[in-house]
Amino acid sequence: MPHQESDKDKDVDDINSTRSMSVTREDFVEFFTKYEKKHGDLVCPLCQSSVWGLPSREDSPEHLAIVTLPIPFSPGRGMWAYPIICKECGYIVTFAANKVSAVIKGV
Ligand SMILES: [Zn+2]
Repeated sequence: MPHQESDKDKDVDDINSTRSMSVTREDFVEFFTKYEKKHGDLVCPLCQSSVWGLPSREDSPEHLAIVTLPIPFSPGRGMWAYPIICKECGYIVTFAANKVSAVIKGV
């Protein structure tokens, strides 16, 4: 059954998208550091390095890049994610932009 998007869904999507787009690399570093202090460094599953790079958005270098993960049976829709990349081997870890931006913005 095709997904019927209501006006309410669209408003929520717009709010989430705007919030996700507003997260800066500095915001993410603060978020990430807080969790690493609490749980230990994030270690790359492939090479065991704990040095991660944060790619920038092409249109705004101070903001974190966002990638879209396709959602099955929902053409044209996807989950937004912030990628961080292992500096040693290139392994990519993604964080759900909706969740991370909500934590950062205190929503
Ligand atoms: Zn690695």
